[in-house]
Amino acid sequence: MTFRFAGETNFIDGRWRGEPAGEVRPARSPIDNTEIGRMAWSSRATAGEAIAAARRAQPAWGRESLWARAALLRRIADAVLARRAELAGLLTLEQGKPLAEADFEVGKAADGFNLAADLVKYLEGRTIPTEDTTKRVMTFYRPRGVYGVITPWNFPVNIPVEYLAPGIAAGNAIVWTPAPTTALVAAALVTVMQEADLPPGLLNLVTGAGPEVGDEIVVNPGTNAIGFTGSAATGRTIAQRGAGKAQLMELGGNGPVIILPDADLDKATRATAAGCFVNAGQVCSSSERVLVHAAVYDAFAERMTVAAAEVVVGDPRAEGTTMGPLNNAAVARKVSEHVTDAIDRGATAMFGGGQPDGCPSDLYFEPTVLSGVVPDSLINLEETFGPVAPLVRVADEEEALEVARANRYGLVSSVFTRDLSTAFRFVDAVPTGIVNVNDTSNYWELHIPFGGMSGKDSGVGRIGGRYSLEAMCDLKTATFTLD
Ligand code: NAD
Repeated sequence: MTFRFAGETNFIDGRWRGEPAGEVRPARSPIDNTEIGRMAWSSRATAGEAIAAARRAQPAWGRESLWARAALLRRIADAVLARRAELAGLLTLEQGKPLAEADFEVGKAADGFNLAADLVKYLEGRTIPTEDTTKRVMTFYRPRGVYGVITPWNFPVNIPVEYLAPGIAAGNAIVWTPAPTTALVAAALVTVMQEADLPPGLLNLVTGAGPEVGDEIVVNPGTNAIGFTGSAATGRTIAQRGAGKAQLMELGGNGPVIILPDADLDKATRATAAGCFVNAGQVCSSSERVLVHAAVYDAFAERMTVAAAEVVVGDPRAEGTTMGPLNNAAVARKVSEHVTDAIDRGATAMFGGGQPDGCPSDLYFEPTVLSGVVPDSLINLEETFGPVAPLVRVADEEEALEVARANRYGLVSSVFTRDLSTAFRFVDAVPTGIVNVNDTSNYWELHIPFGGMSGKDSGVGRIGGRYSLEAMCDLKTATFTLD
């Protein structure tokens, strides 16, 4: 069975419906720009109805035992796995990533529901010692209430699950709005979740424009908390508009990857190429800039060029394709702009650098290796979100650290070295929330804390396993006075 949508992409109070005002927009595939369905382009009022439904549903769900919540999550995981191929097919069609990557993402979504089911049973509060011997103090994890969840298009199945699974496990009800360019696969995920007998109103989906539907979810007094993954600019707006509500924010990243002279260059090349080209570079943890020590610069650049040549660009549904199109025109524009700016400032394209010939839409971009990128290039300073490896030559470790630090983002970095002391020095000194030693910047597992460094533009809080589960709860303190 395939998923069919004719504008009924809102799921409110356990029922599918379109926008009452009737507004629908076409959903198009980035593969060839064909229309693949229609989505409701919803109003603030519809988002408000979804919030009201969530408010009605949440108290009963919050009283359910943790075991009952875990049982629902396991049923959802099974339902996702039962429809894995269909979900992956639609994910590829609407997002543009190769089928193998889509299949991996859907598998991870099922893992995310099972992980939340495992962990929620260990959501243990504490008993806290007191100065006053007549007191007993305990803490409990309680649902926050209604969670507003707003998600991007780069991992449109797995990123929502990073909020839906712990959010439901924690006893919250949810109102979710996905990025408009991946609204159909969001509706498909909800269809599959519904097959696991979701209580009506526990999960509500509303599709439409972020500044309308998303903003309503942020400002409406009916939501208690916001989970947001997306750009730093939108994150800043939401932080202000949602002031006073709990906010978990996963924002942009900008590498860096640092290649030191004692690195295993073959391994570093494989890992960096994966960091640059997986999902066509549209990953918050992508290897957005590559700082290479002068002693190994030429050898590494040569290897990266070979790795880029091995990438097979084309229709992501075809076997053998390892990179599909970018997801949308805005990201395609930004990638071209950053590459042009780098070249204008003196970089050379050792491989790629533009659109490949003969593609069925103008969203395809060649795997690109830029050599001689100067630190004040846009591509070094800003998140590019495309399949580009910008190589910056650094004279020594100090310069590597200096360039690494001079950036407003602070999400994930990688350092390649065989020396343990050097590795620890970089772990301490590079201002990113995660530092991967000797692996791609994209390495992560679902239970590992993931998020941006404080004071940077990469977000607030930590996603992952028990970290997001706890973050999606209120910590309630109860004090008892003995006679
Ligand atoms: P975006 O900020 O443009 O949009 C994200 C979501 O916010 C979409 O659903 C959009 O409709 C909604 N939105 C837009 N304006 C809004 C507003 N004013 N109020 C409320 N909601 C609004 O981001 P994007 O282009 O969809 O995603 C790419 C970005 O996401 C990149 O910067 C990437 O690094 C980041 N990202 C971060 C992580 C992470 O875990 N840190 C993971 C994936 C993606």
